[in-house]
Amino acid sequence: MTQQKHVMSQSQETGLRDSISSKFWGLQISGQLVPGSEGASFPVFDPADTLKIADVADATIADGLAAISAAEAAADDWSRTAPRKRSDILMRCWQLMTERAEWLAQLISMENGKALPDARGEVAYAAEFFRWYAEEGVRVLGEVGHAPGGANRILVQHRPIGISVLVTPWNFPAAMATRKIAPALAAGCTCVLKPAAETPLTALAIGEIMTEAGVPAGVVNIVTTTRAGDVVGAMLQDPRVRKLSFTGSTQVGRVLLRQAADQVISCSMELGGNAPFVVMDDADLDLVIPQAMLAKMRNGGEACTAANRFIVQRGIHDAFVERIGKAMAAIKVGRGLDADVECGPLVNPASVAKVRGLVDDALGKGARLVSQAALPDSDGWYYAPTVLADIPRDARIWSEEIFGPVVAVTAFDTEDEAIGLANETEYGLISYVFSGDLGRALRIGERIESGMVAVNRGLASDPAAPFGGMKQSGLGREGSHHGLMEYVEPQYFAVSW
Ligand code: NAD
Repeated sequence: MTQQKHVMSQSQETGLRDSISSKFWGLQISGQLVPGSEGASFPVFDPADTLKIADVADATIADGLAAISAAEAAADDWSRTAPRKRSDILMRCWQLMTERAEWLAQLISMENGKALPDARGEVAYAAEFFRWYAEEGVRVLGEVGHAPGGANRILVQHRPIGISVLVTPWNFPAAMATRKIAPALAAGCTCVLKPAAETPLTALAIGEIMTEAGVPAGVVNIVTTTRAGDVVGAMLQDPRVRKLSFTGSTQVGRVLLRQAADQVISCSMELGGNAPFVVMDDADLDLVIPQAMLAKMRNGGEACTAANRFIVQRGIHDAFVERIGKAMAAIKVGRGLDADVECGPLVNPASVAKVRGLVDDALGKGARLVSQAALPDSDGWYYAPTVLADIPRDARIWSEEIFGPVVAVTAFDTEDEAIGLANETEYGLISYVFSGDLGRALRIGERIESGMVAVNRGLASDPAAPFGGMKQSGLGREGSHHGLMEYVEPQYFAVSW
């Protein structure tokens, strides 16, 4: 995973810390950075040493509603701005973000903990949403046709859906924000972003870039808060809001869907996953193992797309377990900013406790511990990369999202059995299928209920592809043209001409 070495000297790291802690991290409302109306702030921590790195304004309900007012004031002008002009601004966002990629990657690594190569990958991916939607925003075409009875023409145009509330998680603090903001703006919508309280700095840094790139005041507003339920809840009760795009857990998604029902707000939901990683006997382990590591260990396992259940055919199972055991045990765990580190700390102590609980539960129910990597001598929120085999089906790790560096393996015999196991979950975000026979892999993939299927690959995310889940993994898609269409609604004109 680590390709580019990067060693930060002590003074460089102190410089980074100083530049972060000395900045004013206010709410972004109407193009201004402002303190919360109560003047309160909350701390952001570095998960690698648990020390505070910054204080951020803590928004109240009144601040959330002020952000909606700012989005409302900017809405008319932005929706009437020529698509090419909006596109040029988004392209400038991509350029600026790309120019500042290294600083942003360091910021992400410091507030989220992820290893720097993962953070660099995230910044490139995140910036790409600006470029993709700069290109896509000038291609929103309508329709024209004859009514079958011949009385009139049917003319359809796509209008911006309106003020959009965007709620994002901490695991990809840059990409989850741009994956929503870029299509919203390309469609002509103004928005309020509510990032996760663990990682608000990246969102605010992107907001700063967008202001510099020429995004007009009020088009993107950013509200950081420790009172997510109250602030988002109040925004969803406001009839001016027409769209909610949420990425986070299925549990919170369900709550927000209920709240959005009151004002009949359109919802896009990118929720949790429990991805099966199916390996058939005829797969080539030289290909499978590095791809399995990628599918599991990107972001230290803190990804909704992370392979959760490794379902391996019996003939290849023991060799797979042995090789993945060695690969996971060899991972270098440590501070994300340090050279050669492949796996950083988890984002907070609750995450460590959750992963530990899942592993202990599985071991208590009869799973076998295959290997565990070494941990750094540190106060950080670390969990050692771990491989478990013989997972019992009543173990919580089988049905719950791990969100950490743990490989859980189970064996199967027949193709039908593999498909049954893969589908034995309320989730349906992504699945991975490996076979030396492409037709067989596609045949299996077609029968798995997931919005995305990665065939003989450990990575599927791409701004040009529709990202999203079936079943309780979500509603709607992000990325690609589909992602833009989540922010428009058709308006039909019956015309006699
Ligand atoms: P989370 O659901 O706890 O929080 C997500 C966001 O919702 C945060 O901004 C949080 O502050 C906010 N929030 C929490 N409670 C809220 C409430 N009652 N009302 C309004 N907002 C509330 O999720 P998380 O722990 O930040 O992220 C991890 C989860 O996100 C995992 O389940 C993961 O699978 C999912 N995720 C999904 C995708 C996807 O595209 N499908 C991508 C990344 C992460």
